[in-house]
Amino acid sequence: MELTVLGKYGPYPNATGCASGYLVKNRGDLLVMDMGSGTLSRLMALTDIREVRHIFISHLHYDHTSDLLPFRYLLEELNHSVNIYVHREDTAWYRLLFSHPNFKVRDIDENTEIKAGSMTLNFLKMEHTSNDYAIIVRGEKTLSYTGDTVYNENVLKCLRLSDTVLADCSKPESFKGPHMTVGQAKELAEKYGAEIIATHLSASFDPTRVLEGFKNITVAQEMKTYII
Ligand SMILES: [Zn+2]
Repeated sequence: MELTVLGKYGPYPNATGCASGYLVKNRGDLLVMDMGSGTLSRLMALTDIREVRHIFISHLHYDHTSDLLPFRYLLEELNHSVNIYVHREDTAWYRLLFSHPNFKVRDIDENTEIKAGSMTLNFLKMEHTSNDYAIIVRGEKTLSYTGDTVYNENVLKCLRLSDTVLADCSKPESFKGPHMTVGQAKELAEKYGAEIIATHLSASFDPTRVLEGFKNITVAQEMKTYII
């Protein structure tokens, strides 16, 4: 099973990076998790878009969804449709993003199970300023992606269930907001066996040095492929 980081920044990218987006491959099947700004071109560089059939959205913040808008032009041109899995919301942004014939939208919550080729997906509610669901992908191994969240019991569930957790835990200790800090990342890595890939970096703070040499944890690198 493979994970490629398309973009790792939030809430906006640095000068050369992209906002949140990830490509997962298992036995020749692929899926995408989130499509923040800049991720479409990277996805195009790595795949034939006609092979992209499943897109999972952790939550509706712009840094996780904005490239879905230009993506629609490409889908129209290719006459290709994709399945979008996202928690339904009664908001103007939800309607703007998803009211398009080339998006086949399916609502998700904690009771949903999705089959995407050789992968099976479930979801766990996180705690964030928008309805965020962690995405649990079971293929040859198990990979979880927290989306955006503060520390909560379901983060521990992700760690117990998974071989690798792609986690929103890259903010500096001084950060006060709806994300986990590098200190919390260290604590989680110490207590639980799963490998953690720390993501959702601020453009102004690189946690690499703080987390360097720490067991079970690595900082996400864009366009790098991780073997799960
Ligand atoms: Zn967010």
